[in-house]
Parts: sequence; C-alpha cells; structure tokens
Amino acid sequence: MSTHEGRCACGAVTYGFDDEPSFVANCHCTDCKRASGGEMATFALVAESDFHVTGETTSFHYPKNAETCAGNGLDRVFCVRCGSRVYTNNLADFPGGVFVQEGSLDRPDPWFSPQVEIFTWSRQPWVQALPIPQYDHGVTATAEAS
Ligand SMILES: [Zn+2]
Ligand SMILES: [Zn+2]
Repeated sequence: MSTHEGRCACGAVTYGFDDEPSFVANCHCTDCKRASGGEMATFALVAESDFHVTGETTSFHYPKNAETCAGNGLDRVFCVRCGSRVYTNNLADFPGGVFVQEGSLDRPDPWFSPQVEIFTWSRQPWVQALPIPQYDHGVTATAEAS
C-alpha cells in the first residue's frame, strides 16, 4: 500500500508512490495532446526510487524535440491491454524521475495542483491560463533550481 496510488483503465497496471511530487505541470504540447486525446496533460514528477508499478506495460519513445515536452527524449508508458497511458520514464531532462499522468490517479484521492503551465505556445485559444507561472516552452530541473 502506497500513500498515492493509481491504475490504468482496465486495472491490469497499478502503481504507487509515497512522497509528494516535486514538480507538477499542465503541459499543452502537441505530443501530450496527441498521446492523451485532450488539450493538455497534467503530470507529476516522482522519484523513480519511490515509484512502484505492477502489471505489463509497454512504451513508445519520443525522440528529442525542443517544441514539445519530449525535450531531449523520453518514453511514454502504457498498459498493453487497454492502452491507458500511465507514466513517462527515461526522461533525459529529469534523470531519476518519472512523470505520473494525473488522470490515472485513483479517485477520490486529491490530485496534485499544477505549479506551472508549459508549452503554452501550443495552448488552444479557448483554454484560460491558470494564475500560476506560464512558460512558452519547457522548464528544466536546472531552470527550476535557479
Ligand atoms: Zn489497462
Ligand atoms: Zn507535453
């Protein structure tokens, strides 16, 4: 039992982590749109060492792309049975971390509020900006610390 748990749509893939995410973003990039089918994705950065997953997954690699949150490359991981995207790993820009897709968190657990909105250059004009920092492109771990 972890403090925070989630799963794919069919339940074959489950995951958990204990620590609060260190970074939560609303990403409006075109990769997140395509992968999720929605205008944006909300994801939370969790330490790989704190992240435990069960069930069969596969992944799709997104190569280096400065115009999306792929950044220097990452893999989006999904359930082999139902195709739900549950997390992202092999993050070239956030080594040692995984991005958990907040839509896969168990309800009614409270979701983590986004701290920033990123890749706003491709945000649809009918989406209102939240009252949090806005970034035309991405933020890196280095940029966050400075
Ligand atoms: Zn599934
Ligand atoms: Zn994105």
